[in-house]
Amino acid sequence: MSAQPDLNTPIQYIKGIGPKRADALSTAGILTVNDILHYYPRRYLDRTTVKSIRDIKKNDEATIVGTIEVCGERKTRKRKLYQAVLSDGTGLITLVWFNGVKYIKNIIQKGDRIAIHGKVEFYNGLQIIHPEYDKLDTDADPINTGTIIPLYPLSAELNKARIDHRSLRRIIKTLADQIQYCTDYLDEEIIRVKNLCSLKNALQNIHFPESLEDLKEAIHRLKFDEHFFLQLLLSLRHRSYQKLGTNPLSKSGPKVKKILDDLAFELTYSQKKVLKEICHDMAKPIPMNRLLQGDVGSGKTIVTILAAVTAVANGVQAAVMAPTEILAHQHYESFKQQLNKVHITCALLVGKQKAAERKQILEAIKNGKVDILIGTHALIQKEVEFKKLGFVVVDEQHRFGVLQRGDLTKKGENPHLLAMTATPIPRTMAITYHGDMDLSIIDEMPKNRMPVVTKVVKESRLKNVYKFMKEEVADGRQCMVVYPLVEETEKSDLAAATEGFENLNNIFLEIKVGLIHGRMKKDEKDDIMDAYAKNEIHILVSTTVIEVGIDIPNASVMLIEHAERFGLTQLHQLRGRVGRGSAKSYCILVERNITDTSRKRLAIMEKTNDGFVIADEDLKMRGPGKFFSTEQSGFFKYKIADMVTDGPIIRNARQAAQELTKTDPKLENHPLMKERLLKDYAQYLDTVTIS
Ligand code: ADP
Ligand code: MG
Repeated sequence: MSAQPDLNTPIQYIKGIGPKRADALSTAGILTVNDILHYYPRRYLDRTTVKSIRDIKKNDEATIVGTIEVCGERKTRKRKLYQAVLSDGTGLITLVWFNGVKYIKNIIQKGDRIAIHGKVEFYNGLQIIHPEYDKLDTDADPINTGTIIPLYPLSAELNKARIDHRSLRRIIKTLADQIQYCTDYLDEEIIRVKNLCSLKNALQNIHFPESLEDLKEAIHRLKFDEHFFLQLLLSLRHRSYQKLGTNPLSKSGPKVKKILDDLAFELTYSQKKVLKEICHDMAKPIPMNRLLQGDVGSGKTIVTILAAVTAVANGVQAAVMAPTEILAHQHYESFKQQLNKVHITCALLVGKQKAAERKQILEAIKNGKVDILIGTHALIQKEVEFKKLGFVVVDEQHRFGVLQRGDLTKKGENPHLLAMTATPIPRTMAITYHGDMDLSIIDEMPKNRMPVVTKVVKESRLKNVYKFMKEEVADGRQCMVVYPLVEETEKSDLAAATEGFENLNNIFLEIKVGLIHGRMKKDEKDDIMDAYAKNEIHILVSTTVIEVGIDIPNASVMLIEHAERFGLTQLHQLRGRVGRGSAKSYCILVERNITDTSRKRLAIMEKTNDGFVIADEDLKMRGPGKFFSTEQSGFFKYKIADMVTDGPIIRNARQAAQELTKTDPKLENHPLMKERLLKDYAQYLDTVTIS
């Protein structure tokens, strides 16, 4: 390549990288010079992170650099294994592989200099089983030379193309030195005010830091950039909604008033406040894009019903999408109960309906006979056509991909959107995850509620618990017993619940015990729920399918089996199924596999009923991936940023991004920034117009 490469130069034109290596790099997402400069090391070796073997103890999580002294395959009675002894001059440690012996014996060989990382155990001396390992240059010695050595994520594809740490460093070094990437896309003003280092320094120091201080600055800058671009995107998206036109739904009408007058309770102050915010948005000729957040039991349903009725009063249809069939069903019942009073028609659309029934519903939606359609993601199927969809509700929206949310709104002409969630998402997460939406919060429970008394019990105490449940049922109350996902399959989930059901049937002889699970037919589920709602079933055993939504005010005891297997947020959701009436309610958490962590986590449930506190703790303990419990919730894959620990950086980045979109909404004065946005964030730009 004769001309100087620039950031957008395809990687295969770089010296030392042919088509084969370029192929391998592309599997790691590296297509251009810019991509490889942003291929950050996953770990660094230096004096502060590398330990001497002399100083390590059993159970340490240690990083060690040393040379392989001896190694070889061994056979025990049961299986083959590969062993290697590593020396760092202060001691010896054994490395053991039980898996992939054939592969590893070609990689780890006598005389190799490697860095390893893993949990130290003791078995005839120090050892690590299946350590993470990185082969190093023969003279790499971070301890004695005081250097910092970057280690890159290396996949099997990269290994196969003979791309290792050394070659990556060499390629990146050459590029870092010659590339004119030093023109920063951030304003000098932002860099100064937010106390950032330059992009050039950041990209150099993330790969070749001379001091830990340099490295810290580089990490800070690159984290900032990632949050900044995401916030920029959200801010642009928010602005672009503002430009769309839609039907203003400003009439309130007598039907809303009739429902309100007929309610058995008065709305809480919070419910009135959010309803006002929602109606205010709907009355504008700009589509609403609002998230309604409220803890379980705070009364979101009635707010949505009133908003939907308002929409219908203005001559449009409404759609309500729920994440599970049971929840869709429950919504349908709640809506129907109110809508019947005012002669508004609603229908339920879920996956497993009879063809004839389905056809009839689809027709009624299309010709406008149905005012409000409630259902699961069946609503976004192609065949579903509305006459005039003007208002969309998405419940527990984090369970749907951002795209699915869009798929439903596309069925109308920029309908007003209300998303709902009972997962009290911590603030920093809310602004990264829902940063393009306006937020309404119900932060108050209906007055008649008493906090649910929560108790963690061991298996041995279950007899007393069952006795207590009998007493509650004798008092006219009802109970729920929930079994967790045993393994990742619904089948074993079901097995546990079925077994539990049979067992409980033998314990509660004079009491009617019912079973409900996700595999049942809709009719069966309906019958069971019906019977439970009428108090013909006193104890309902279920799999986690009832996690969200079910509303039985007479239920006073929630018993959760294997509570240690649930996330705290999930436990909180389940707990929210009781304490909905005026009776004192109880949540019993049965802890079966007791560990220090499970004890600590479950203790939080005993201490607080506050969903925000619980969500915060859950997020801290499990990280965002597990917190949301699904892959799609990833929405946005960070390279270096961290939604949980970067709070201050996120706020700074958000502020800078919002300021910038105010003064330069089309990024006309920021061509480099615009270029990066269009290149790296194209897939998220669906609704955004900047060019
Ligand atoms: P969630 O926010 O979890 O969806 P729901 O809307 O299901 O909560 O409401 C929980 C229960 O509280 C329902 O039985 C509902 O009828 C009742 N409820 C809602 N608002 C009030 C209120 N202001 N006062 C008393 N009960 C209420
Ligand atoms: Mg609800």
